Amino acid sequence: MSLVIPAAPPACVPVQGGGLFPVRRIYCVGRNYAEHAQEMGFTGREPPFFFMKPADAVLPVADGSVGTMHYPPQTANLHHEIELVVAIGTGGRDIAVADAARHIWGYAVGLDMTRRDLQNDMKKQGRPWCIGKAFDESAPIAPLRPIASTGELLRGAITLSVNGQLRQKGDLSELIWNVAETIATLSAAWTLQPGDLIFTGTPAGVGAVVRGDVMEGSIEGLGTLRVKVE
Ligand code: MN
Repeated sequence: MSLVIPAAPPACVPVQGGGLFPVRRIYCVGRNYAEHAQEMGFTGREPPFFFMKPADAVLPVADGSVGTMHYPPQTANLHHEIELVVAIGTGGRDIAVADAARHIWGYAVGLDMTRRDLQNDMKKQGRPWCIGKAFDESAPIAPLRPIASTGELLRGAITLSVNGQLRQKGDLSELIWNVAETIATLSAAWTLQPGDLIFTGTPAGVGAVVRGDVMEGSIEGLGTLRVKVE
């Protein structure tokens, strides 16, 4: 049978050194650093929870260049959340924590951009977060680095500056649910597949950006993601 409308091209993230990683799904972990959970009004180690963005929300930014993100509609409070992104290369379900690392294809620096005003409205009403989290260009991302070249990332500084001023600062070792535990928990609820990305949560210091701002996010061992809001 032929397609009755043209199929959309697959969303892809470039790989450092060449090649494209086709994105199937984007899973995101909520409140996964203690100080960020506190700034959002929560304490303690609650079980991890997840939301999703559409695959075509990725906004790939080449190494050494400054990407452009259009200020999204219907918000007056666009927030930055710098995050370690994990790319799944080998799928599976009910993955054990001890086996999780062999499912990782690589890593990238990413931004979970958030229409915080809309997200907060939805929270208050007990409604889904989609409009606050899953909008177009809501997932700027730097090129992927294969785990074969980075090794397993268990610690390292994660920072975000806006216009040269430090806003967010943490360390991957401070994740409440580490990457292996996150993969294990996710794979109990969904069958992970090659092409899935996982945004693993953001450290404290989230805040608003406006048109003209340049965000610069870095993770030790992965490089830097630069995005201008226009
Ligand atoms: Mn986030």
